[in-house]
Amino acid sequence: MNYKDYYQVLGVAKNASEKEIKSAYRRLARKWHPDANPKNPKEAEEKFKEIAEAYEVLGDPEKRKKYDVLGSDWQRVSQQAETQRRYRSQQETDGDYGSFAGAPSGFSDFFDAFFSGVGRRQTTTNFARRGGDLETSIDLALAEVYNGGKKSVHLQIEDTCPRCGGSGVFNNAVCPTCGGTGRQVRSKRFDVTIPKGVREGQRIRLAGQGGSGSGGGPSGDLYLIVHVLPDEHFERRGGDLYVDLPVSIYDLVLGGEVRVPTMGGEVRMTIPPRTQNNKLLRLGGKGMPKPKGGFGDEYVRLIGMLPTDLGERELEIFQELAEARKQRQ
Ligand SMILES: [Zn+2]
Repeated sequence: MNYKDYYQVLGVAKNASEKEIKSAYRRLARKWHPDANPKNPKEAEEKFKEIAEAYEVLGDPEKRKKYDVLGSDWQRVSQQAETQRRYRSQQETDGDYGSFAGAPSGFSDFFDAFFSGVGRRQTTTNFARRGGDLETSIDLALAEVYNGGKKSVHLQIEDTCPRCGGSGVFNNAVCPTCGGTGRQVRSKRFDVTIPKGVREGQRIRLAGQGGSGSGGGPSGDLYLIVHVLPDEHFERRGGDLYVDLPVSIYDLVLGGEVRVPTMGGEVRMTIPPRTQNNKLLRLGGKGMPKPKGGFGDEYVRLIGMLPTDLGERELEIFQELAEARKQRQ
């Protein structure tokens, strides 16, 4: 990114009056208007754009002040702007209102680094503009998804700098809070209502919690993208839950009653006699809450465990069992 000397572009002195700047702009705009330069339209267009950009800044007292104050510090400001741009590209949603920090202006990168988020003429026309929508992710434990309800979370969001109000200038100097970019990333607490049974990737909307509006415009919305953390017991598939349950081989062969963990607490389950290892048993309605009411099911996979400490007598009986099996064949 190159430094732009807007005073040089308009051919005026650093202390030129508003009137002088305006007339210099008018004269140059007439001279370099593409319609007036049919022989070199490309060059004229470039010049015309450059002049328009310079006037956009110097013709606006707010922008001119910022440019005068931050000009010498432009490299630091551009680095800050780049850092925030990278952060934004991860966070942004593409809503109707575009990016909350201002879409590229069509002017140079230098201009955007200084005035992104300010918008053309916005500071002088005081045009009400809705704040942008923000998007970030929220990690939820399976139990939080099962129970739903309120959760207080701290999230990193980017917003207008509270010290300088987005101008980048504070007390006639580079704003120390935002380094001149007018934007600030900060941690903020939100009270979120988690819908019961919310799915992975689903978005929770917090109305009016997005980027601040300008000129009296309303704030945008904040969207939280749900990420459900892996659970140590349960695997979730849609509304159903799957759990592995170690059982003794005696319960599988002879049948029995076992205790099974569910999201709502432990329940008793009957294993029928002669049940095969790895069989799935269904516990109806013990899965996750469904968005339209009701619950999914829980599937219990029975994992037969052999005893590791067989005594002499037990080994004898297994021997007898093996003999009995042989005689059947
Ligand atoms: Zn600031």
